[in-house]
Amino acid sequence: MLEEFGIKKQIIELSKEVELEIKDELLKVDLICQNNSLKVLKAFNKNKVSDIHFNSTTGYGYNDIGRDTIEKVYADIFEAEDALVRSQFISGSHALTVALFAFLRPGDVLLSITGKPYDTLDEVIGIEENASSLKSFGIKYEQIDLIDNEFDINAICNRLKKSKVKLIEIQRSKGYSTRKSITIEQLKDVIVEIRKVDKDVIIMIDNCYCEFVDIIEPTQVGADIAVGSLIKNLGGGIAPNGAYIVGKKNLVSLAAERLTVPGEGKEVGPSLGMNKSLLQGLFLAPSVVASSLKTAIFTSCLLEKLGYKVEPKFNSQRADIVQNIEFGNSSDLIKYCQGIQAGSPIDSFAIPEPWDMPGYTDKVIMAAGAFTQGSSIELSCDGPIRAPFIAYQQGSLTYEYGKLAVMRAVSLLIK
Ligand SMILES: *Cc1c(COP(=O)(O)O)cnc(C)c1O
Repeated sequence: MLEEFGIKKQIIELSKEVELEIKDELLKVDLICQNNSLKVLKAFNKNKVSDIHFNSTTGYGYNDIGRDTIEKVYADIFEAEDALVRSQFISGSHALTVALFAFLRPGDVLLSITGKPYDTLDEVIGIEENASSLKSFGIKYEQIDLIDNEFDINAICNRLKKSKVKLIEIQRSKGYSTRKSITIEQLKDVIVEIRKVDKDVIIMIDNCYCEFVDIIEPTQVGADIAVGSLIKNLGGGIAPNGAYIVGKKNLVSLAAERLTVPGEGKEVGPSLGMNKSLLQGLFLAPSVVASSLKTAIFTSCLLEKLGYKVEPKFNSQRADIVQNIEFGNSSDLIKYCQGIQAGSPIDSFAIPEPWDMPGYTDKVIMAAGAFTQGSSIELSCDGPIRAPFIAYQQGSLTYEYGKLAVMRAVSLLIK
């Protein structure tokens, strides 16, 4: 059956070896999943989640007890004061944008300490010109790069001592870069150093792709606010869109007043029938994130055995669900992405090609055979067509489906 599906015999054999080799790593993932499942279940129980919360509102969305309960559940999971979890957020980038515009005022300084932020924020910040950017409102942007994947603590502290910085942005996941992602330990350490110099600078975390990869979230190690997308980890593959902002009550309130209307804030925003999906997605999220991690570990070990450079290695500590594979040539990168598409449940018959995309200088190939458009907690794989030809793979709703697609994709690579 596997061979009929396009998986070569050699890959079936090699995959058996891989599964033996990664056994201990998968057990570690199970333990994290167990921990996070307990966290979710406790939050559901504490907030007395009930089927009345599946009902929803329309129009202004006053008194939406389902929506309000979801936000309490999120706050508890993050051990935070408050949360804003809304389908009115189009994407993670939208939530990050709302947060930045909510917290920053003309003349303020925004400082990124993980190098240049995610590509979609270029025009938001004004790194790329845009008439609606933060820059156009007189908000200044500065950045400090990582050094060998570590925070440049000296540069950060010196900058904070020099003059007032309003907000520090820390992006945990690597995005389309080759750096490593930021672990909770690294985050905890840098926050301790920052607080020695500045007690009030807002520490905001782009937490995309990192939720439930560890058993501790950024708000539990001193971050003021964390932001992420619901078509990634916490939506569990069920949420059809949306994003969250969680953290200090006053900041969540500012974000709500920016998303909706000053004076109305969290009181408005209809859930439009999505409450059950958000709750069910969150309930499944620990397990879906675990499946994504297992698929990444399997991929890393298998591709390394086939001679490709991978990051992270199968047995490295992970901070997000993204797996990089360095193909070294465009042809293998393209074939691999086409194989992932062919092994997906939706649009398996489509053959992705490298294409010009808005916001990117190089052509980009994207494989995404997902139930939800653009969902990357579902198995997806993409990469810019430029040396060293890296594929960024993430997601998989189950480990079994992830493995099948990866085995099928590598079958296209071997002679
Ligand atoms: C996905 C992602 C975002 C937000 O992207 P959207 O596609 O707008 O949800 C932001 N930062 C990082 C690091 C991401 O991975």
